[in-house]
Amino acid sequence: MLEIKDLTVQYKGNEDNALADINLSFQKGEFVCILGKSGAGKSTLIRCLNGLQKPTEGEIQWEGKLLSDLKEEQLRKVRREMGMIFQHFNLVPRLSVIQNVLTGLFGYRSTFKNLVGWYTKDELNRAKEVIDNVGLTDFTHRRIERLSGGQKQRVGIARALLQQPKALLGDEPVSSLDPGTSNHIFTLLKEIHREHDLLTIINVHDVELAIRYATRVIALKDGVITFDGKPEDFDNDA
Ligand code: ADP
Ligand code: ADP
Repeated sequence: MLEIKDLTVQYKGNEDNALADINLSFQKGEFVCILGKSGAGKSTLIRCLNGLQKPTEGEIQWEGKLLSDLKEEQLRKVRREMGMIFQHFNLVPRLSVIQNVLTGLFGYRSTFKNLVGWYTKDELNRAKEVIDNVGLTDFTHRRIERLSGGQKQRVGIARALLQQPKALLGDEPVSSLDPGTSNHIFTLLKEIHREHDLLTIINVHDVELAIRYATRVIALKDGVITFDGKPEDFDNDA
């Protein structure tokens, strides 16, 4: 479903490769956690997967399409097939839960639509449904700035789901949440993964979380893969 071939990323002004010669293949149904300390290359990898970061060398293939062959318009479509959730949520604080979720339909270009509230009944119903999916029905019209961190990430997940993605990518989505809340978010991600049959790839730095929830763990260190396998086989001290 998603293939990475000989991927190398080098940032300008940085002699070391952020990623060096990475080869990976992801299948539908996997729940992958990518582990690694700060600077290991996790975020660079996720951003390459959805076309936000251009590889220095190598190729990424999504459902048979090479990302490097795609025009901006097609790349936008691919990005919508890969829902994305972020460490700092990337929500609009002054807008309500449902207004933020609805930006999932048209991306940030929908701000105008948000201001005038110009949505079809069907779009509104779909938004309410995903809000219900993440357990925020009672908060539908509450402003983001009045929510807890865990609730904000639920909004981020609902927004991603509204795009009806085939994959869900997370760049440290629980790194600013406490351990209890992080577990709740992972439980939710796992439910959604099962229910919607989503390929899920999440960056985390918490080894225990990865082992508890992942079907596959990949560890990165200084831009190279040091482990790729079952969570029960992962040895953090190796
Ligand atoms: P985090 O670990 O929370 O993701 P970082 O401090 O690693 O945050 O990075 C914050 C931002 O700065 C990211 O957008 C990252 O791409 C960028 N960044 C990280 N390292 C460098 C660097 N050496 N030079 C320029 N930008 C960097
Ligand atoms: P992680 O997500 O595991 O913390 P990153 O992918 O953010 O790792 O970073 C990998 C390496 O690339 C680090 O050495 C970081 O400093 C560097 N890096 C990240 N973003 C940039 C950037 N925009 N410019 C230069 N170097 C960067």
